[in-house]
Amino acid sequence: MGVLAGRTALVTGASRGIGRGIAERLGRDGARVAVHYGRNETAAKETVAAIEATGGSAFAIGTELGLPGDAEALWKEFDRHADGVDILVNNAGIGTTPGLDVISEEEYDRVFAVNAKAPFFIVKHGLDRLRDGGRIVNISSGLARTAVFPHLMAYAMTKGALDVFSRDLSKVLGPRGITVNSVAPGIIDTDNTADLLHGTEEGWAQAAAVSALGRVGETADVADVVAFLASDGGRWVTGSWVDATGGSLT
Ligand code: NAP
Repeated sequence: MGVLAGRTALVTGASRGIGRGIAERLGRDGARVAVHYGRNETAAKETVAAIEATGGSAFAIGTELGLPGDAEALWKEFDRHADGVDILVNNAGIGTTPGLDVISEEEYDRVFAVNAKAPFFIVKHGLDRLRDGGRIVNISSGLARTAVFPHLMAYAMTKGALDVFSRDLSKVLGPRGITVNSVAPGIIDTDNTADLLHGTEEGWAQAAAVSALGRVGETADVADVVAFLASDGGRWVTGSWVDATGGSLT
């Protein structure tokens, strides 16, 4: 029996990329997983099928988290399948086109809506569904702690806001035994980074060189860290910013 048997997890943005990796890992560990998606229902169903193929249990729920997003609608969808959540992973996120000189107010609002506002209101509207002793993991970014790509500052700002949310929320929910942490990936091979990584061999090599370990990260590298925080072993870690950048900030 998996270490998360009997627990229910909700992973936002689990149709693709890091969220999918996290959902599959939590599913393998025995949790029943709510696979949230934005637009890609087919991809979310593939995540569900992958979890079921390893003997796990999962269901897909779709809601928009951008402009306008609807965190309450997400929980209403969730309620059709389950009556409480033990592990909430706020992973859904988007990047921005580069440049202070280029970014529009609409794009600024959209990246803040998905990356910072949605996690806040998902927690607010989910307070009654979150079970005592549970876990919240917010997927941040190494860019919240380094100015190596300053043209991505609006995106980095959303992650800075998310990190403050993790820190303060850990105090608010601590009395209920709920831990709250940020996990910050470095460069991971997903659709988000496809242009950087899969444009040229040089791009891949430059990205690999950012990590002290000399390679580009895989979704499993992040999922394993989240799985630890979600497990009983992670019970004493809260209010933390967990560097999962493969040594990209050293
Ligand atoms: P990805 O492959 O582009 O996947 C993004 C996920 O978020 C998808 O499941 C997508 O759902 C969902 N999503 C996006 N916009 C949404 C919206 N408006 N409403 C609802 N859902 C939405 O991204 P990723 O690279 O895995 O990134 C996942 C998280 O890790 C993000 O928070 C990102 O900032 C963070 N991160 C990534 C990296 C990296 O190198 N990849 C590095 C550091 C941090 P649909 O496809 O169904 O619409």
